[in-house]
Amino acid sequence: MSRLERIAQQLQGYDPQALSVPMAQCFLHQLVSQCPALPTESIPVGQASGRVLAQDITSPIAVPGHDNSAMDGYAFNSEDLALQEVQHMICVGHALAGQVWRGPSLQPGQCLRITTGAVMPQGTDTVVPLEFTQINDDKVSWPSQVVQAGDNRRFAGEDIQKGSIALTQGTRLGPAELGLLASLGIPQVRVRKAPRVAYFSTGDEILSLGDAPREGAVYDSNRYTVMGMLKRLGCETVDLGVIADQPESIETAFTQAAALADVIITSGGVSMGEADHTKAMMRRLGDVAFWRIALRPGRPMAVGQMGQTLLFGLPGNPVAVMITFIAFVRPALLTLMGVPDVQPLMIRAKSLEALRKKPGRTEYQRGCLSRDANQQLWIKTTGNQGSGVLSSMVQADGLIVLNHEQGNVAVGDEVDVMLLDSCL
Ligand code: AMP
Ligand code: MG
Repeated sequence: MSRLERIAQQLQGYDPQALSVPMAQCFLHQLVSQCPALPTESIPVGQASGRVLAQDITSPIAVPGHDNSAMDGYAFNSEDLALQEVQHMICVGHALAGQVWRGPSLQPGQCLRITTGAVMPQGTDTVVPLEFTQINDDKVSWPSQVVQAGDNRRFAGEDIQKGSIALTQGTRLGPAELGLLASLGIPQVRVRKAPRVAYFSTGDEILSLGDAPREGAVYDSNRYTVMGMLKRLGCETVDLGVIADQPESIETAFTQAAALADVIITSGGVSMGEADHTKAMMRRLGDVAFWRIALRPGRPMAVGQMGQTLLFGLPGNPVAVMITFIAFVRPALLTLMGVPDVQPLMIRAKSLEALRKKPGRTEYQRGCLSRDANQQLWIKTTGNQGSGVLSSMVQADGLIVLNHEQGNVAVGDEVDVMLLDSCL
């Protein structure tokens, strides 16, 4: 029994001819979880943007390393606060960021000028911000109510304690994570290699950029949306171009792709009425399931493996390509990359219009969000929801996700919205 057949057998109610989106996602999760983990490599933090940690990061230091001041002002011992309306102290020196105060210990009633980030001098525990103070020579005063014992002092280790786990394996390294690593003084990290993804488009009507326009032909947009989505995920991309509808070309493309890539993505040639050779070649060269997914847009899809390489045969229609990528390819790639949580960010918004929806399939409608005077979020579709209308993806800032069992939506009903920025 093939790997795909085994997974299918374990899924209750699996019907490749009418597969729900959640079941297709579950199937793919099983399949990808059985793939060997991508190899790891150690790289400089400066090159690690978008990569996935292959190790837990234990902090070698406390951050901050010392108790320090959160403000520019005057540091003093809160035991010196007097029960009166105005505090008076004598400033006896400066504690500057990057230096440690080494002067004599403070006597009662004495304070030190301090800058943000400077180490709290021995014997001080509170900082009065500069803007509340009045200064006359070395005499500093401020209204008592503006500061209480312990104010404006950051504690050593309050961000991260020495020896604690600062970042866990499987974390995608974005700007905040890179900054955090740098703040720990860590120059080098072990990450997963980026998956190498080869992709090509199929169909005799498809033109590449630079080809002369021809009646009945269309320019290939799928390779560009796919490439853009792969790059945002941090994948290495290999563009194999447009492959003509001939068995030899298709076989060569698949064989080449399977040899060099961890994942192959094709578009076109997997729908019912296809006269082309893509499906036949997938069947011959791989362990591939052909699905009709209860999904709009994006019904036909092929998934499987060629050798160790994962294969996604996406539909041809440009919007369907993006939607099936978001729904299926993206979570699969993230799982392959070792990311534990692959769910995009979802919010709820009220629908500005009535939406027709049949229970029994999932729909991803392109929508634009807005806020009313009461800060309520509303969403409106971008208009024509045809699976070839790529401008709907350009206009949209969110996908209205109408779930499998859901029926018609009335004006004002709340719907799930997937923010495109969180899934592209
Ligand atoms: P198919 O799935 O091959 O039947 O294609 C469905 C529709 O998508 C057809 O109208 C194709 O012309 C169109 N299509 C297929 N591939 C591409 C592509 N790479 N770029 C733009 N449109 C495409
Ligand atoms: Mg085609």
